[in-house]
Amino acid sequence: MTFASRLQHIREAMTAQNWDALLVSQPENRRYLSGFTGSAGHLLITPEHALLLTDFRYIEQAGRQSPDFEIVQVNGEFHSYLPGLLADHALRAVAFESAHVTVAEFEKWRAATPEVSWVATERVIEDLRMVKDEDELAAIRRAVALTDEAFAHIASFIRPGVTEREVTWEIERYMRTHGADKVAFELIVAAGPNGAMPHATASQRAIRPSEPVVIDIGAAISGYHSDMTRTVSLGRIPRQLTQVYEVVLQAQQAAEAALKPGVTGREADQVAREVIAAAGFGPHFGHSLGHGVGLAVHEGPRLSRLSDDVLQPGMVVTVEPGVYLPGWGGVRIEDLVVITADGCEVLTQSPRDLRLPKRMERGA
Ligand code: ZN
Ligand code: ZN
Repeated sequence: MTFASRLQHIREAMTAQNWDALLVSQPENRRYLSGFTGSAGHLLITPEHALLLTDFRYIEQAGRQSPDFEIVQVNGEFHSYLPGLLADHALRAVAFESAHVTVAEFEKWRAATPEVSWVATERVIEDLRMVKDEDELAAIRRAVALTDEAFAHIASFIRPGVTEREVTWEIERYMRTHGADKVAFELIVAAGPNGAMPHATASQRAIRPSEPVVIDIGAAISGYHSDMTRTVSLGRIPRQLTQVYEVVLQAQQAAEAALKPGVTGREADQVAREVIAAAGFGPHFGHSLGHGVGLAVHEGPRLSRLSDDVLQPGMVVTVEPGVYLPGWGGVRIEDLVVITADGCEVLTQSPRDLRLPKRMERGA
């Protein structure tokens, strides 16, 4: 999909809702519609115009990245600039992104433009972003491939005595020197009891043999992300760990087998949750099954108990059941998949095995 066709979609939505304009401030939405990657700026979309409003620092960059947009330099505060801008284009009903604009900022806009009726909207662009086009999928595939490579690399680096932070740093170093814009999020390596916290950050704890080590990593390439988790263990693997691992793996495979167009986020979540509950670990799977991934690491659709999102071909989601036992640790296995015409394709290629590939393991 080109930027022009994305704009066309938005304009159709505007006409259907009787909005005169849509003011876009959310950074990933801004990038999705215009290509602009700067950290500050707004888009104003009207039926005839597409304006990119930013400050002096970004004018040249905006011109290069967003040829479909008229670039407007805003001097001073945005809310002081708004009244003249909206009056010039005779805009009365202006939609804005209520999930992104702060109350403080919105109050300033409203005070500056008493004649404008502001329409709070949610998910206008986010819903469009859920289905990826070929270019987006290509970037995501590259980010996934680099993540698989980084995991293979770390399999030969990780050994008892290495700290969680040393492992995350080695993964980050590998990704950044092999083509990543950056890492996709603060990488997680959580050994032993730390793994009982699903979003633990890496600590100075040294990894020990026979404990679960949760490794949750991803890369960003051309603005698109990957997200993968593997749980591994060094040395002799205790029975309980194998048992928990088998349950999580079964849940994950059942969910991946169930994903196809028409399935709701709630139904997908339920498939994995039933497997884990049947094994007696229901209360220990406290988060949702998965989330969309694209320009943001966490975006729609949601695979959760509360989600009415309906899967469609081209959606990219994680499948990441987990079991977390306080004082012991956690097991999570996360793949990134793309929904196809009749099922899903698993993009993540890293082996799903508690034990690291034998030839890669050292000193355990
Ligand atoms: Zn993850
Ligand atoms: Zn995730």
